[in-house]
Amino acid sequence: MAVREIVLFPDPILKTVCEPVDPADPATQQLVQDLIDTVAASPGVGLAAPQIGVAKRAFVVDVRPKPGAGLLVLLNPEIVSASGPKTGREGCLSIPDFTAKVRRPQEIVIRGLNPDGHSVVIHSSDFEAVCIQHEMDHLDGILFLDRVASLKRDVFRRKGFEPRFDAREYPRIVGEENS
Ligand SMILES: [Zn+2]
Repeated sequence: MAVREIVLFPDPILKTVCEPVDPADPATQQLVQDLIDTVAASPGVGLAAPQIGVAKRAFVVDVRPKPGAGLLVLLNPEIVSASGPKTGREGCLSIPDFTAKVRRPQEIVIRGLNPDGHSVVIHSSDFEAVCIQHEMDHLDGILFLDRVASLKRDVFRRKGFEPRFDAREYPRIVGEENS
């Protein structure tokens, strides 16, 4: 069991498109365990592999009140369908400075591999569906600030937390000013 240090923005691994994982690789099983241990020790409800410094396609989400109950770990996930966009408030363990209003589908179907390597199809809705999409975005180097309609209007300083950067400067920091 290992609680890993959470990588903070603007570490470049957070803007990396991650590689697929092989469930038969012992390193993948270690990664899965580290994700589970690290999210359990954090104030968050989800964690993706790049957030602990591993550019691989794996994430964990646990939105249930009881730790360990309803834990979802998925490898090489893909969206099958998504519908019902709605705006909600999101935060990220890698950007503890802010929360933001993000619009996402509230009903999703995803497929991927469970840690045993078996194919699974998962139907999810509401808060859990939003968390899953947030974590899946991490696997493509997409952060929640990439999804806000307005960096000026829709991003909020986290209470009691002195931000490390100005949210309006986000495009310059990630070097996407002209894209
Ligand atoms: Zn995040």
